Amino acid sequence: MKLVLATKNKGKIAEIKEFLSDVKGLEVLSILDFPEDKIPPIEETGKSFEENAFIKAFTVAKATGLPALADDSGLEVDALGGKPGVRSARFGGEGITDAERNKKLLSLLENVPSKERSARFRCCMVLVVPPEFEKYVAEGVCEGYITTEPRGSHGFGYDPIFYLPKYGKTMAELTRSEKNKISHRGKALEKMKEIIRSLVND
Ligand code: IMP
Repeated sequence: MKLVLATKNKGKIAEIKEFLSDVKGLEVLSILDFPEDKIPPIEETGKSFEENAFIKAFTVAKATGLPALADDSGLEVDALGGKPGVRSARFGGEGITDAERNKKLLSLLENVPSKERSARFRCCMVLVVPPEFEKYVAEGVCEGYITTEPRGSHGFGYDPIFYLPKYGKTMAELTRSEKNKISHRGKALEKMKEIIRSLVND
């Protein structure tokens, strides 16, 4: 079975390919293996992670005629009613750095006491399989708290302000392999791998 990853992000492609490398009978491609004009531009207009992941996977499955896998993820802060959520990548403005985004988020939580600073990373993976365009969904969640200042230099995005009580560290203080074991993306991928394995064996 061939599978197309609905992303141009080389880091993500490498990570997912490595993760799926032990699924026998599976060949993993990405959008980058197709001519640029074959796949129309994709707008993430969905109101949930699942909707956005579905839009990406469906567009690529339709354009290539092959099963396509997409993910969408973000941070939900309880004291902000679940924001930034699906707007995580753009929160605070398009052209700002991750550090500026984190500063903006911390300023919104300035007077919020530590036990009310709960938050979670959520990742939704959607696989769409032509010709019927069946949809398969796998979700992963990683619970934590928002710190009062950034700490750690690994990872990306909101990792330096996301605290994991079980480890006494922020996500940015974990190594890549430690993070992959507990992260929202790692958990969603783990579930999706089983779905893919059963489709390959069908
Ligand atoms: P995307 O699903 O790759 O588009 O990610 C959406 C946004 O959510 C990213 O730009 C980050 O701001 C945030 N995000 C998603 N996953 C993580 C993570 O593992 N660490 C930190 N930030 C993340």
